[in-house]
Amino acid sequence: MENLFHKLFFTCEEATMKAEMNEQKALSGLDQMRLWMHMQWCALCTLFSKQNKKLNSILSHNHQHLKEVKVDDKTKLKWKSALETASTDVPSKNN
Ligand SMILES: [Zn+2]
Repeated sequence: MENLFHKLFFTCEEATMKAEMNEQKALSGLDQMRLWMHMQWCALCTLFSKQNKKLNSILSHNHQHLKEVKVDDKTKLKWKSALETASTDVPSKNN
């Protein structure tokens, strides 16, 4: 009976992992149903799933924004030089 229960219902650990997979559209129909059933009674996983969706949306938006940034070669060289200067200015931890 316990075995049947585990076949039908996800644990919270499985549910959070499957919720992430569901975001990537990588979940089978059976697992989608099991995830839905888990979400019906588990407030914590429902909250995790909502926050995960929000976070993915924010990251996806920022990623699209970054793709639009174009930097010319002159600016890249300026940044490279600034980074090299900054990295040699870092004091050693032993001082
Ligand atoms: Zn849960």
